[in-house]
Amino acid sequence: MESRKKDIIIIGAGSTGSSVAYNLSKTGNRVTVIDQLGVAGGNTGKSSALIRTHYSNEIIAKMALYSFKVISHFEDIGYSGFRKTGMIFPFHDRDVEIAKRNVRMLKSIGIDEKIIEPTEIRGFYDDVNLDNFDFVTYEPESGYADPVATSNSFMEKAKESGAVMFSKKKALRVDNSGESVRVTLDDGKELSGGKVILATNVWTNDLLSESGVSKSNLLPISASMHGIIYIRRPKQYSGLKPTLWDPPHTAYYKMEGETVTAIGSLDPKIDREEVDIHGFIPETVTQEYLEGYLERIVSRLPSMRDATVISSLTGLYDMTPDGQAIIDSLSGIGLDNVYVCAGLSGHGFKLSPAYGKIVADMINGEDPEKSIFDWRPFNMRRFREGKLIKSLYDDIATIY
Ligand SMILES: Cc1cc2nc3c(=O)[nH]c(=O)nc-3n(C[C@H](O)[C@H](O)[C@H](O)COP(=O)(O)OP(=O)(O)OC[C@H]3O[C@@H](n4cnc5c(N)ncnc54)[C@H](O)[C@@H]3O)c2cc1C
Repeated sequence: MESRKKDIIIIGAGSTGSSVAYNLSKTGNRVTVIDQLGVAGGNTGKSSALIRTHYSNEIIAKMALYSFKVISHFEDIGYSGFRKTGMIFPFHDRDVEIAKRNVRMLKSIGIDEKIIEPTEIRGFYDDVNLDNFDFVTYEPESGYADPVATSNSFMEKAKESGAVMFSKKKALRVDNSGESVRVTLDDGKELSGGKVILATNVWTNDLLSESGVSKSNLLPISASMHGIIYIRRPKQYSGLKPTLWDPPHTAYYKMEGETVTAIGSLDPKIDREEVDIHGFIPETVTQEYLEGYLERIVSRLPSMRDATVISSLTGLYDMTPDGQAIIDSLSGIGLDNVYVCAGLSGHGFKLSPAYGKIVADMINGEDPEKSIFDWRPFNMRRFREGKLIKSLYDDIATIY
């Protein structure tokens, strides 16, 4: 509590930085946000923004439930564009016991997770191919939101509480300078704050390197590239429909609005394929990737053969070895009063309200044991100490 009313600088205005700004401003801190692009100009703007509570780790599921409640009832903050569509999670025979155990856990913390018969999927998609869909769970309340509107709303609300935002300013380095932290910007100016928070996604280690952190102390965050293909779906599948997860084909099909489908990847191999963020990153997917994923959706939803391709995009995931965020102080690597919330591993939009709350509690000096979420498992030491945040689904797909 004694650190309230401090000057706080947040670097990064994606879903993470904007939510942190909102939560810190709301609790009486003087907040300045800087971003080299603008609000949601990074990976947030590329996000499928699916909002689900189906997770297989209890802490993350609780964070997802909290965040779902914020994003689906966003009127006090602004506009999130949340659309309830429902979401279907099918499992292969060999994973049934794990999935059943998980449903029990989800129900025990108040998540509305139903077990349905595989054939019930036909109520939404009448010609669905049910191969390897042996056990199915359904979340009626899930959906998707608008990540750009949500982040802008968080920022606007933060500004109402006095936050200041600077777009198109890059932080070149952060340094400890006496009691405060100095942030040097690319226009030669310097900002000084009591605490600095890095919400810098795949760019975090660049900033740490420039700030003098040695290679061996950099965070275990690597970038992987993920494509989304947008197709106009045939009339047969029009209307609001649930997102269909397709782990056997390592893909998901997000039914966006009434007529468009976004095809995304759940392939753990792609998650682990590191890309050089300083190299060439194509803006659209390759022809081979496009054809491969169209084949998958057609084999699952045969009438999709009549869909037309609209466009594609690529975005980056900031992967950690256990697929979960690093939320910690960086004093252990020589940066006192500097904190990080990064390494969100491709599923961080839906959790942004929880990340914002956690970081604000941490900065406001709350006791993690008494806070709504105990954030200590997200520390950066866990990778060295072998205390990874475990998921039941490691071998199934990217369903943490
Ligand atoms: C294709 C794709 C699909 C996804 N689908 C989903 C989904 O369905 N559901 C879900 O929950 N999540 C999804 N995600 C993940 C989710 O979108 C991200 O985890 C989340 O939005 C990341 O937010 P962020 O604020 O941490 O990062 P970003 O949005 O990347 O923001 C980081 C910001 O930091 C700024 N920055 C970095 N370095 C500096 C610097 N030195 N100086 C100034 N500014 C700097 C950047 O400009 C950027 O704006 C998806 C991601 C992608 C790419």
